[in-house]
Amino acid sequence: MVNIERYHSILEELKLYGASLVAVSKTRPIEDIRELQKNGQQIFGENYVQELIEKHQEIAKAEWHFIGHLQSNKVKNIASFISLIHGIDSFNLLKELNKQSEKANRITNCLLQIHIASEETKFGLSYEEADQLLNSDLPSQLKNVSIKGLMGMATLTDDEKVIRNEFRKLGEYFSKNKKPGLSILSMGMTSDYKIALEEGSTMVRIGSAVFGERG
Ligand SMILES: *Cc1c(COP(=O)(O)O)cnc(C)c1O
Repeated sequence: MVNIERYHSILEELKLYGASLVAVSKTRPIEDIRELQKNGQQIFGENYVQELIEKHQEIAKAEWHFIGHLQSNKVKNIASFISLIHGIDSFNLLKELNKQSEKANRITNCLLQIHIASEETKFGLSYEEADQLLNSDLPSQLKNVSIKGLMGMATLTDDEKVIRNEFRKLGEYFSKNKKPGLSILSMGMTSDYKIALEEGSTMVRIGSAVFGERG
């Protein structure tokens, strides 16, 4: 069930930090997305390509973000409409995005996902790999992609200190690398967005708090 009251209170919180909200609508029915949209939400985040495509066809007048792990062979299916891809985690994926964006005759915005969690299963570039990429000629050579910032997911734990440390390190790395154009720091979800905001997040990805628990 959509929690409109909670939605508005989260927006108030975000305003204090100048941060924006991606409403994570994965697994949610179209009606729920429409209801949130009626209340003013424009940006929705999805993690599965097929589901994203179906929802985009139903609701074209929203900004769709891809927040999950993107396989190279699926880039072509979303390159024509996606507003922001949060999870660029390899040079090859970035190159493929450039290629498909060129075919679609557009420039696609994206974020580099940095691996900040202690779990090995989470995707992302190491800080060293991100350094390499950001300091290479690649970003200027790839004319059809625009790297707008960074994204990170903290370890799934109840230990706030662990989460805060991971977000803090990414926040500091973001500040250090901040240049014109690199302005988005996507971190924080329902369980940890308050910590993320305190550590410099400019964009949170929230699902359960506004749409209810996922079944
Ligand atoms: C599902 C998901 C979220 C939102 O999670 P909630 O706990 O429902 O807020 C945020 N980011 C990513 C990458 C996700 O997959």
